Amino acid sequence: MAGMSFSARQRRRKAHPVPVGNVVIGGDAPVRIQSMTNTDTADVNATVAQIVALHEAGSELVRITVDREEAAKAVPRIREELNRRGCDVPLIGDFHYIGHILLRDHPACAEALDKFRINPGNVGFGQKQDRNFSAIIDIALKHGKPVRIGANWGSMDAALLDELMEKNAHRPEPKDAREVMHEALVESCLRSAARAEELGMKPERIVLSAKVSEVQDLVAVYRQLAGRCAYALHLGLTEAGMGDAGVIGSTAGLAILLQEGIGDTIRVSITPEPGDARTREVMVAQQILQALGLRAFMPDVIACPGCGRTTSMRFQELARDIAAWLAERMPEWRREYPGSEALQVAVMGCIVNGPGESKHADIGISLPGTGEAPAAPVFMDGKKVATLRGENLAEQFRAMVEDYVARRWG
Ligand code: SF4
Repeated sequence: MAGMSFSARQRRRKAHPVPVGNVVIGGDAPVRIQSMTNTDTADVNATVAQIVALHEAGSELVRITVDREEAAKAVPRIREELNRRGCDVPLIGDFHYIGHILLRDHPACAEALDKFRINPGNVGFGQKQDRNFSAIIDIALKHGKPVRIGANWGSMDAALLDELMEKNAHRPEPKDAREVMHEALVESCLRSAARAEELGMKPERIVLSAKVSEVQDLVAVYRQLAGRCAYALHLGLTEAGMGDAGVIGSTAGLAILLQEGIGDTIRVSITPEPGDARTREVMVAQQILQALGLRAFMPDVIACPGCGRTTSMRFQELARDIAAWLAERMPEWRREYPGSEALQVAVMGCIVNGPGESKHADIGISLPGTGEAPAAPVFMDGKKVATLRGENLAEQFRAMVEDYVARRWG
């Protein structure tokens, strides 16, 4: 599927480019993948290990929670250790309630981070809210750091919501409560961004997000945000859930918006199943972007589902083995043959769709179905180039793929 459709990319909303460490979000940059650790930030070793794993899996920015003194103190040590290990991934500090105090008391933490995430719904109330919010913006300006202003459905600015509910009640045709909530989230982001600009923050230093946990709310809120500003937008369905439900919810919401050109960076917030790797959220994010044709991370294996025309499991095994082998080869290919992540390989079960699909892929093999001659034609760039026979078919095909990649991207 990689490289199949670029319509979403062509229509992409143009946001202000925001440099975060060595990575740019927005502008002409590809949609960036972010993730978040779930270790105690005060535990330097565990947090560093998880950041390295997330970055190696493909996370281009990693967010860590900075919730208390010990965590703020650990941040510069985490950065140092990452640098020592050659991991230059930008770090984002996630602040709630006391971010203004932690950043003020720990300038080394502020310096070590590449971006601060502020939730306008929980930096205080009334005048205090403005004071605390302004304090964080001032520190960001002093250290030259961008910010993400991230409103969240679960911690909405109560005063703003009351104000909008009141206004709505006086409308001749009041909107329903859910629409007012959408409006409040959007307003919370936009008013906070306007305040940050008043304080001297440039739009090229601001990213916005408005997290909700329902797909339809996410789509409604981001369509409004995208229509009303040119700030870079961070997309993600919050509390998406566990297992398939989390993956499907995130995919549904993000896919609609990305297809409309909305979203400059994404995070898939799935709750890992016990024992599951934290890196799963990064893989899912990559698969969403790849399925939409926005970015390519791994060669695609196009395999038919199999049916009554195939009595053996042979082609399913071959498809599985080829996918595993491609994943194994990819780290080296990425270095030696840049661009090869867009490779498409077809492994098909019989003559009905096999030759056709194989011709559409870069390289494809069509295995013999029940009653067909025991031969497997191989196609490269739409042309039949060989017919494989015998027991070591997988090996012969792998050699042909290796050769194709070296010739095309070498
Ligand atoms: S290609 Fe052949 S084996 Fe595969 S699903 Fe289609 S008819 Fe069945």
